[in-house]
Amino acid sequence: MKKLIVGNWKMNGEPECSSKPTKFDEIYPSHARDHLDIVLCPPSLLIPGMMELCRNANIQLGSQNCHYLDKGAYTGEISAGMLKNFNVKFVILGHSERRAMGETSEEVSLKAIKVSEEDLTPIVCVGENLEIRNAGQAHKFVSEQIEKSIATLNKDFIIAYEPIWAIGTGVTASIDDIRNMHIEIRKIIGPDIKILYGGSVNIKNAADILKVENVNGVLVGGASLDMVDFAFIAKAAG
Ligand code: PEP
Repeated sequence: MKKLIVGNWKMNGEPECSSKPTKFDEIYPSHARDHLDIVLCPPSLLIPGMMELCRNANIQLGSQNCHYLDKGAYTGEISAGMLKNFNVKFVILGHSERRAMGETSEEVSLKAIKVSEEDLTPIVCVGENLEIRNAGQAHKFVSEQIEKSIATLNKDFIIAYEPIWAIGTGVTASIDDIRNMHIEIRKIIGPDIKILYGGSVNIKNAADILKVENVNGVLVGGASLDMVDFAFIAKAAG
């Protein structure tokens, strides 16, 4: 299975960040990474300005969210169809930072269906908090979250396992924790769906994480803002 390296810039990105795909391609040229897919998910405002540069650098564009309807009176929202018009191919859904703002698995499921209908690929994020992990309930919690978040989805999707306590904290899940959780997720979603790990992935830990069985790529937050680091993480996929 081709590995997938996704960068989530979150709410970071000055206009000059639009040129980062070119910088990435200089460090890790497209001809040397046929075995990988690279996706950048910038703030939506930067997407139009990055389309051409991403195409030239063989990097795909992703969005950090979208609405589950096509259009209407939903101030501040953006639809999957609008994103598709700007060559977006992937949409991150149910990131824990959005779930913390009240997004439910039921909403994630509706969004995932809409994203699939537009022939884009949903990257559905799941992950437990520290309290749940310490209570020994992490596998059960994540299984339920997946079942609710992908409910009736029957097209291609990607799962990103992102333990909340590892996101933006500098604390990474142990290799054993990652392996065990990915085995559980694999049992639920079958052999053909990619499972990414996310949570403080950096240049030091990427190679070890990417070697773990059933880790088909990584979702990188902070370290994806620096193209030297992001390219190094992608190179670590082998
Ligand atoms: C993320 O935003 O999905 C993430 C994993 O962030 P970080 O790599 O900074 O922990």
